[in-house]
Amino acid sequence: MNLARFPRQRYTPFATPLEPLPRLSVRLGGPEIWIKRDDMLGLAGGGNKTRKLEFLMAAALAEGADTIVTMGAPQSNHCRLTLSAAAKEGLACRLIIEERVPGSYDAHALGNNQLFELMGAAAIRMVPAGTDIPGELAREAEAVRAAGGKPYIIPGGGSNPLGALGYAACAQELLVQSFELGLAFDHLVVASGSAGTHAGLLAGLVALNAGLPVTGINVRRPRAEQEGNVHRLAVATAALLGTPAPAEADVVARDEWVGPGYSLPTPEMVDAVRTVAAVEGILLDPVYSGKAMAGLFALVGAGVFAAGQRIVFLHTGGSPSLPAFAGDLRAPGQN
Ligand SMILES: *Cc1c(COP(=O)(O)O)cnc(C)c1O
Repeated sequence: MNLARFPRQRYTPFATPLEPLPRLSVRLGGPEIWIKRDDMLGLAGGGNKTRKLEFLMAAALAEGADTIVTMGAPQSNHCRLTLSAAAKEGLACRLIIEERVPGSYDAHALGNNQLFELMGAAAIRMVPAGTDIPGELAREAEAVRAAGGKPYIIPGGGSNPLGALGYAACAQELLVQSFELGLAFDHLVVASGSAGTHAGLLAGLVALNAGLPVTGINVRRPRAEQEGNVHRLAVATAALLGTPAPAEADVVARDEWVGPGYSLPTPEMVDAVRTVAAVEGILLDPVYSGKAMAGLFALVGAGVFAAGQRIVFLHTGGSPSLPAFAGDLRAPGQN
């Protein structure tokens, strides 16, 4: 795997920390738990989209684009980070917001919505759930072209093979850190949404013959649908890299912690966010990393991850959305 062949705008001038979570490990009473701090990546507020944007923005600049067109949910971390990258590169950025939970979009909400406005989004347009998103992105790009601009479309979550290269790079970074520490990991746990993070990690780990299994924790879709999405994107990412394709059997995307739906709180998520904040001083988020950590807690509870193992949790970020979920995250009985 030779990632240096792909143009890249570097947005994080260091490897993200790989840290033990000793107090959480004691609290859960099972395996040794570590965390890869991708919440500390560069651009405004950090998080996993920054790694994908390094490759996507390099491609936009190479094409001479002057306007980025992308989409996300209300409270989208991807939209915040794409705006941040566009501002840094001097490009305009137009957002389409898909209201996945009817009635959930509030232009004046705190969290990421406030930051869309602060970072000067050139347009923010809300569309209802079920809208043909690729069609909507194409229409927006056409309008930019008609006005004399040069648009570049970044798909939701930055999840295409080029964006997923960012997580093949993360797989490589993690293995180097693991080697430097002299510690091997038995398992990697990560949130699985638009699938680019999960797929890029798998493509990178298979390319490097790492022997490190990955458990994705779904935040939106049923298991079979998500495993299909992740596998297709992992195969396409490996093809772009020119490396062996991950097998279907390599893809695990559990769906027991989605709860009532995307972005909707669950008691297990609230417990995970509150516990990690209180015992390790690390902020998770309610939509992604909190549900993924709830999955990790449950898998430790069920003995799937057990004493004697070493598990690494990839923290994908998201804490800038916390102010928008304040009411959901109060201690039980304090709402
Ligand atoms: C987008 C996002 C994810 C999911 O990553 P995908 O590549 O979309 O699967 C996880 N955590 C956070 C905080 C995110 O913003």
